[in-house]
Amino acid sequence: MQRLTLASRPHGSLTTEHFAIEEVASPTAADAALLLRPRFISVDPYMRTRMQAQGYGYIRRWEPGSVLSGYTAAEVVASRHPDWAAGDWAIGHLPMQELLAHDGNGLRHAPSGEPPLAWLHPLGMTGFTAWLGMSLLGQPRPQDCVLVSAAAGAVGSIAAQLAREAGARVIVSAGREDKRAWLRGLGFDTVLDHRAPDFGEHLQRVAPEGLTLDFENVGGRAFAAAIDAMRSGGRVIVCGLISQYQSPRPRQAPANLAWLGERGVAVIPFVAPDYGDRFEAFLRDMSPRVASGRIHWRLDMVQGGLEAIPSALIGLFEGDNLGKRVVAL
Ligand code: NDP
Repeated sequence: MQRLTLASRPHGSLTTEHFAIEEVASPTAADAALLLRPRFISVDPYMRTRMQAQGYGYIRRWEPGSVLSGYTAAEVVASRHPDWAAGDWAIGHLPMQELLAHDGNGLRHAPSGEPPLAWLHPLGMTGFTAWLGMSLLGQPRPQDCVLVSAAAGAVGSIAAQLAREAGARVIVSAGREDKRAWLRGLGFDTVLDHRAPDFGEHLQRVAPEGLTLDFENVGGRAFAAAIDAMRSGGRVIVCGLISQYQSPRPRQAPANLAWLGERGVAVIPFVAPDYGDRFEAFLRDMSPRVASGRIHWRLDMVQGGLEAIPSALIGLFEGDNLGKRVVAL
């Protein structure tokens, strides 16, 4: 059986050299109550942060040699657990390996039948992040002018739709034309390019009265442009700063950050694991919207199993993905 490990700690850009595939003995049904076969594994930007020597405080960092892990939809191959039967779908944060023995703790049941892919995106961690940042913390209202950066990605696409559902005017940005075309197809009429050198000028042109809410996914120059465009009394939801994740630490904040203080803009950072007690409320709120199709979601499915994970993850930092990137095993 194969598993994916961190071969060495990246100090700059992540490359496939930082990963290794190991061959180990397969677990058997006798090893634990459940034997699981991971079928779909989510790759996410935070994984890069887990690889560095100073990771986030809330999640254990990976050491060289660590087996990587991620949100996974796995099939139950064999069960001695009263709550699970062979053929069930289990969702959990699981090691990246072809087969695993598990005691069942921390796993969620997904509906049987079709692969439960929604549970890895709009009803999973990325949907939860969008809901927390936008609906719970951002609380958009009809009078708001909202910017969502990286809006053709996983979190951004859901966050932008939640702001629109709340009646706000929503400006979205994406770094590639096919991504912007997809966003226009979803009905967003102001779609900008946050990678363009004149992003700030475009922003000022489409929102001359300024932004009242910035849902920040990108950081760096794009964030600086959003800061310039903030209206007094607005708020910035700091969801992520992906453009900075491969830069050496300490990372540089935008040079105009102090303007937020001068303009009385509230800066609200958050990390989803701090809000675990809200997950059930999130599911109650989002499940009907996802089931009815009111919230659109798109997967960027990469085939190729464990070996495809390194490039799939690296690609997030190059903007390869359109929608939520998931690797099929
Ligand atoms: P996405 O699906 O949005 O993929 C990442 C996207 O970021 C890329 O497609 C690309 O979009 C953009 N990007 C990557 N590198 C750069 C760069 N150097 N400059 C500009 N844009 C870049 O990923 P997620 O939806 O999973 O994550 C979005 C953000 O949300 C990230 O910052 C992530 O860290 C954060 N996050 C925060 C959580 C929290 O708890 N606070 C939890 C989960 C995610 P494009 O081509 O359009 O530029």
